[in-house]
Amino acid sequence: MSDKPHVLVLGGNFAGLGAAQEIRKHAGDAVDITLIDRKHYLLFIPNIPADVFGNRDPAHNQRLDLFPVLDEDGIDFVQGEIQAIDVDSREVTYTPSERPGAATQRMHYDYLVIALGNRLAYDRIEGFAEYGDSVSDLYLGNRLRKKLWEGGYQGGPIAIGSARFHQGDGAKGLAPYPGGSIPEALAACEGPPVEMMLSAATYLSRTGQGGPDKITVFTPAEMIAEDAGDKVVGQLLETASGMGFNYVNNAEDVTRVTSEGVELANGQTLEAELKIIFPDWVAHDCLRDLPISDSEGFIVTDLLMRNPQYPEVFAAGDAAAVTVPKLGAIGHQQCEIVGRQIAHAVGRMSEAAANTPLRPVVYCIGDMGDNQAFYIRSNSWFGGDTQVLKMGHMPFLLKMQYKNLFFRTRGKMPEWGLDFSQLVAERLAS
Ligand SMILES: Cc1cc2nc3c(=O)[nH]c(=O)nc-3n(C[C@H](O)[C@H](O)[C@H](O)COP(=O)(O)OP(=O)(O)OC[C@H]3O[C@@H](n4cnc5c(N)ncnc54)[C@H](O)[C@@H]3O)c2cc1C
Repeated sequence: MSDKPHVLVLGGNFAGLGAAQEIRKHAGDAVDITLIDRKHYLLFIPNIPADVFGNRDPAHNQRLDLFPVLDEDGIDFVQGEIQAIDVDSREVTYTPSERPGAATQRMHYDYLVIALGNRLAYDRIEGFAEYGDSVSDLYLGNRLRKKLWEGGYQGGPIAIGSARFHQGDGAKGLAPYPGGSIPEALAACEGPPVEMMLSAATYLSRTGQGGPDKITVFTPAEMIAEDAGDKVVGQLLETASGMGFNYVNNAEDVTRVTSEGVELANGQTLEAELKIIFPDWVAHDCLRDLPISDSEGFIVTDLLMRNPQYPEVFAAGDAAAVTVPKLGAIGHQQCEIVGRQIAHAVGRMSEAAANTPLRPVVYCIGDMGDNQAFYIRSNSWFGGDTQVLKMGHMPFLLKMQYKNLFFRTRGKMPEWGLDFSQLVAERLAS
């Protein structure tokens, strides 16, 4: 390795790949970059539900091989399992994960970017392994797809919802908009349950098995998807109840999943044949109890994505305490900030150009089935003044095109990507 500063990026999905590319874009050849992930591909998680309800194997469509993508930018890739981080000696311990039995290694960094996402804690829900379903990875997606399309599902009631999220204290006191805050969320990410509810209804009617009245959507919170803003959620709920969906709020948590249904912490039991659950998003064990972690193991940063005590440590994506809700779109906004901060630190960008803090915006495009989708753009939960909701064919086209563009540009969405999406979804769809 050269004597240039070494940037080590942990995680290679949306936030890790995005951060590594932004660092190379802004810092150029002033740094060496290494990225470590336990798997060798990026998984395009948001499009798994559409594949499940379209009876397509997401393993064919939603993986992007990391090695050639990183190689293009001169970024070293190591397939390895992160074991520990020592922020005082600036070393990361990892085990190469290609084959079992590999000897554990250490790597030094000058700058560290933690983009390891979270652990989706299905293993904390009693009965999930036997009776629960979900769509957050290829295994679960394909298991549900086969149930829906190969005769396992008999047409009974469907319950869809989230377990309680336990947010740490790492984002307290941050004000991304004047007078705003990073609020406390009771669910980590509720776009997916809303998307699943609408897609499941389309699936039921398309396969002649019923309609929305067979589906109950539940939330631990007072209001589902509250990060989208009360106006947007009000519109969504009005549409959903007009269609016949059942809605349970203040569920508090999921206590148990059984063959008969879902038991909620508020004492209610929802009868269901299919139980589609989104669990608690929890921090990885290797991030807990570090001087850079909050009370739940999420990485503490300011709005420039730097840890205040260890300013050479950055976080982006779901692993960061400030990422609430846990949304890829917010991680994407953070990658740009990390790239600029490191470019400034190595003298490739002025402080004025680098120091634009995070102003989170919830962007969410959810499949509704039948080539339709909903589109949300909102920042009101954080103290902003924007709440937009659109539904129809144009947002669906956008969702599919976004993924195609992401794969075609190998993750480097053109600058006009989000503005263009906004134009298509908000103007042309109206
Ligand atoms: C069904 C579903 C639909 C969604 N839809 C949307 C949507 O429409 N829009 C949106 O913005 N967001 C959506 N999200 C949320 C989005 O998927 C996440 O916010 C996003 O994936 C977070 O990116 P990340 O890179 O921070 O973390 P992850 O995507 O979780 O990536 C973390 C990476 O770190 C690696 N890793 C973890 N631990 C280790 C370790 N110890 N050693 C080595 N490597 C490790 C993993 O292999 C992985 O590659 C959805 C989520 C789900 C479940």
